[in-house]
Amino acid sequence: MRYFSTNDGTRRVSLKEAVLDSLPPDNGLYLPERLPALDVAFWSEWRDLPFAEIGVRVAEAFFGGDVPADTLAALTRDAVSFDAPLVPVAERRHVLELFHGPTLAFKDFGARFMARLMGWLSGDDAGGLTVLVATSGDTGGAVAHAFHGVEGIRVVILYPKGKVSGLQEKQLTTLGGNITALEVDGTFDDCQRLVKAALPDPAVNARRRLTSANSINIARLVPQSFYYIHSMRMLPPDAEAVFVVPSGNLGNITAGLLAERMGLRVNRFVAALNRNDTLSPYLAGGTYQPRPSVATLSNAMDVGAPSNFARMREIFGHQAAAMADRVAAFSVSDDETLDTIRAVSAAHGYQLDPHGAVGWHAANRWLELHPETTAIILETAHPAKFPEVMDRALGAGHVEIPERLACLANLEKQALPMPADEATFLSWLMETA
Ligand SMILES: *Cc1c(COP(=O)(O)O)cnc(C)c1O
Repeated sequence: MRYFSTNDGTRRVSLKEAVLDSLPPDNGLYLPERLPALDVAFWSEWRDLPFAEIGVRVAEAFFGGDVPADTLAALTRDAVSFDAPLVPVAERRHVLELFHGPTLAFKDFGARFMARLMGWLSGDDAGGLTVLVATSGDTGGAVAHAFHGVEGIRVVILYPKGKVSGLQEKQLTTLGGNITALEVDGTFDDCQRLVKAALPDPAVNARRRLTSANSINIARLVPQSFYYIHSMRMLPPDAEAVFVVPSGNLGNITAGLLAERMGLRVNRFVAALNRNDTLSPYLAGGTYQPRPSVATLSNAMDVGAPSNFARMREIFGHQAAAMADRVAAFSVSDDETLDTIRAVSAAHGYQLDPHGAVGWHAANRWLELHPETTAIILETAHPAKFPEVMDRALGAGHVEIPERLACLANLEKQALPMPADEATFLSWLMETA
């Protein structure tokens, strides 16, 4: 399969280039030339397949022409090593829990698959691949866990000294193995500057190919479609199901649209947005207008210029009306988010995180208009990741800390101190590459 950039329909690149150099020179986003469908054989047995097998079939449809079948199946099974349960919380409201991975958020699915595919794709490069990540906290942990133990890949994480939370620092610095954490004496911007200086450096690249792990990689999108197909088969075949997706950069909902193109029957997609809502005006027939982001309680969705909008627009052939036919959007305030966490906890004994709460509120709004449908609300993170907001909604100490988060406190931090200086960083890379 060849890939094209949303900003330049003429140039075509290989899977390897789309994944390892995931930022096209024209600043677009890569999409496959052809969006594959799953065949009749798949749709005759999909309800009985294990979750990981659904992943294997989807991966085969996208990447089967480029990666040997048994390699692809093995890396997919390895990436999808935890469940995504569908919990019937209330009438017509099912919660799809996507937080059972190592960093307790749905991004584990995409990041783990991308890491393993990158490892295989870089296999014939001399010396292997070094992934550079600058982080202000959360993404670094997810990327580090995703690449941990992947052969042929080394990860260097740069984080600003004293500017990440204690828990986040533990997530970045306690893995060891192929993960090295650099504690940079500077700001997040300094960390980014060091990464940007190193990426194009010919001397370092001659030793080991350098790449960055960013969230718009096509290899992160495809695996997020696995759980749309997986969750749908847990509803009765005649259910009119809508997916309610707490959205920021719109990657997760785009993965749902890929699943629909593969043949999944979906009544509608609902984008659940916080105050950062650039989608509703476009769906209502206006123009698409990116804006500066505003801070909210569901901060992983504080995005004013969602990058995957370009992919969505491409999928619908640049027709706003076609998109509005399949996708609805609701914007939810912080007060509504807090009220929803309280109300769902009181009525159903279920704790939603702030992002899932935005989803639940949007589902309520949709279901008032369409009472014949059933909502699958994607719960994108575990509530224990957001203790301040949860305490504000429910009072202190109501959220249970899962074991895999609690045990981090006992692990020892391992980080190398690094000045915020490009020459020092480059020579360290050369020496250790
Ligand atoms: C990243 C993230 C989102 C937003 O997902 P997009 O794919 O960017 O729309 C929602 N919730 C949580 C917890 C996230 O980490």
